[in-house]
Amino acid sequence: MSPSAPTTAGTGLNIEKVRADFPILQRSVHGKPLVYFDTAASAQRPLKVIDAVNDFYLNHNANIHRGVHTLSQEATEAYEQARIKTAGFINAPAAQEVVFTRGTTESINLVAHSFVRPRLQPGDEILISWMEHHSNIVPWQMLCEETGAVLKVVPINQRGELEMDALADMLTQRVKLLGVVHVSNALGTVNPVAEICALAKQHGIPVLVDGAQAMPHQAVDVQALGCDFYCFSGHKMYGPTGIGVLWGRAEHLQAMPPYQGGGEMIRHVTFEKSTFNEAPGKFEAGTPNIAGAIGLGAAVDYLQSLGMENVAAWEARLLAYGTEKLSQIEGFRMIGTATHKAGVMAFVLGDIHANDVGTIIDLHGVAIRTGHHCAMPVVEFFGLPATARASLGIYNTFEEIDILSDALKAAIKMFA
Ligand code: PMP
Repeated sequence: MSPSAPTTAGTGLNIEKVRADFPILQRSVHGKPLVYFDTAASAQRPLKVIDAVNDFYLNHNANIHRGVHTLSQEATEAYEQARIKTAGFINAPAAQEVVFTRGTTESINLVAHSFVRPRLQPGDEILISWMEHHSNIVPWQMLCEETGAVLKVVPINQRGELEMDALADMLTQRVKLLGVVHVSNALGTVNPVAEICALAKQHGIPVLVDGAQAMPHQAVDVQALGCDFYCFSGHKMYGPTGIGVLWGRAEHLQAMPPYQGGGEMIRHVTFEKSTFNEAPGKFEAGTPNIAGAIGLGAAVDYLQSLGMENVAAWEARLLAYGTEKLSQIEGFRMIGTATHKAGVMAFVLGDIHANDVGTIIDLHGVAIRTGHHCAMPVVEFFGLPATARASLGIYNTFEEIDILSDALKAAIKMFA
């Protein structure tokens, strides 16, 4: 660690203890200690989450909601407790507003089909931003093609920040939904979501927030944000894959038709007609990812035990240190230099292709992501085919940033 490197002092986190919670960090890659800078793609899991999932399968496994036997009741209780915990974590007014889905992608598709589609007329508009992940672009594009609605895109500046004046101008009567990412996975930009929601509200426009990258980095309060829908994924916030959340305002969820038909989402079925459950059951057709939801509940417990303010404070230090350290490397250019950033350092290194950078530093045990990060339009906005992206998690250290820096210098030498 270089002499100027900050420490965990004052952040309330004991980083050595945190690292010990993640067994995978003990392993090596190509004979070097694993340095994991790919948390934005998928975070590692703490033992508490792995244990919760194991415990479910070892001791309580059964289908939920339908059984009178003990295991089924235990499984139901654990699943519903996970919903209550998750609701508390985002300060949802009621646990019934938390719908379990497969992840952010499914949550957005659910809103597209059940909330937006029935309201769309040809010529109506869906507004998104230039920095959206494909999961907050493609469902809207598909819906527009089907309905004759138009997809409009709010521009960004060269730092990767939303053009707020343009956004305000684009909020017209024709807009039936504004979809915006809370924290960009490609740039790290933190968008002023509360301000955006307040603006949209003046025009009566509902707002969907893609919170996939915000949840692991900062405290999220859906009431304070003032949004209508908030979507996120378990695996980005130290929980299991295949589980995620759609939070929606109760009045919206009540008014929305089901997304998929099947078991569990019904109240009464005859061949002539079926009636449906209340939300959230109405949107959880079929056997859900029970173990995943329980694992997500454990991830919430884990993050709450660390304290999201501590997580945010530690990662802000890492980001500041990393930005300064990496910027000293010749040929390093950060892509995404917003004033408010979280968790992501995307970059290019001279004219070395991002994939080559990623492959070479993997030999040093360093895992980063390269490519378009499922956000092609924003990478192309910067005139690039791809970037390399080091993304941060609570387990990262200043020493690891030094290792990344040395590995990047080694990559430059190879191409010199
Ligand atoms: N939005 C953002 C900002 C993301 O980073 C991701 C995952 N890379 C998604 C949405 C999609 O999440 P998932 O694949 O878990 O559905």
